[in-house]
Amino acid sequence: MTTRLPPAPTTGVRPRIGVSSCLLGAPVRYNGGHSRSRFLTDELDHHVDWLPVCPEAEIGLGVPRPTLRLQRREDGDRVVSSADGADHSDDLARTADRHLEQLRRLDGYVLKNKSPSCGLFALPVFNRNGDRVDGRGRGAFARRLTELLPALPVEEQGRLMDPVLRELFVERVFAHARLRRLWESPWRPRDLVALHTRHKLQLMSHSPEGYRETGRIAARAGVDEPEELRARYTEAFHRAMEVRPSRGKHVNALQHAFGMLSPLLDDTRRHDLLAAIDDYRREQAPLSLPVALLRHHCAAEDVEWAREQTYLRPYPDELRLRHAVAV
Ligand code: SF4
Repeated sequence: MTTRLPPAPTTGVRPRIGVSSCLLGAPVRYNGGHSRSRFLTDELDHHVDWLPVCPEAEIGLGVPRPTLRLQRREDGDRVVSSADGADHSDDLARTADRHLEQLRRLDGYVLKNKSPSCGLFALPVFNRNGDRVDGRGRGAFARRLTELLPALPVEEQGRLMDPVLRELFVERVFAHARLRRLWESPWRPRDLVALHTRHKLQLMSHSPEGYRETGRIAARAGVDEPEELRARYTEAFHRAMEVRPSRGKHVNALQHAFGMLSPLLDDTRRHDLLAAIDDYRREQAPLSLPVALLRHHCAAEDVEWAREQTYLRPYPDELRLRHAVAV
């Protein structure tokens, strides 16, 4: 029996992403303004569906409103109003709980940085006198979101300006969406094996150990109880994708693909492909160079196993994210 492989890796995959509303241009900031992100609204928007949430607006703070800040207390960091000291932490956190059913169906989340509600990293914290204290904090909504959904790819809009972090986030979001699509279908054991096969190089480029672990779990499809298998595979898959790729791991994945293709290539094309991989290894070429050659040869030789690898097309080409990524 041959394994049924779905169509091209990103076909029909449309991730759902939660987002701080102000990043899409909604005028909900404390001053009535927004923080529109061109990357989100002009580029990513064509390929995803959004779930915009403004926690401060949802708890009725109004627009415009007094600013909030993180205040360090004995019971932890609290989000308080700069006007009257009112503590909004619990209400902001409950916004995440209220949306839990929708959040569970997401593939990623983009949060506004520097916000005491939405900020994920390195927020300034103050004491009761308004003086900065040592250490950094996390926004109340962001903290609850990451507690509820620890495996969800979550990133701050400010960090998405970094091409490496941007590519990593988008790659994880699309991988998350492909796996979610499988679980939402009437899947059979062979469908999980097919998905795992298609993600082989991508998982290897993040975590060879994670690839082996997910492989061991997928091999139990049809043996283990489906819900338990699903939970274990999901956890291991996202844990592997969370690991940052490195040049060495990319070279390993590229050489693996080369090994599969090599018998079909003539000497000239084999040499060109090896040279491109080596140029990338020596930091003389971007990752997109050997990947483009691999894609070309896979299509020309009609090698289904390699052509279907999500590693070669992890998200829509139009996003052009790999061109800027050296590692
Ligand atoms: S950062 Fe969050 S709370 Fe602040 S305006 Fe944007 S969506 Fe609303």
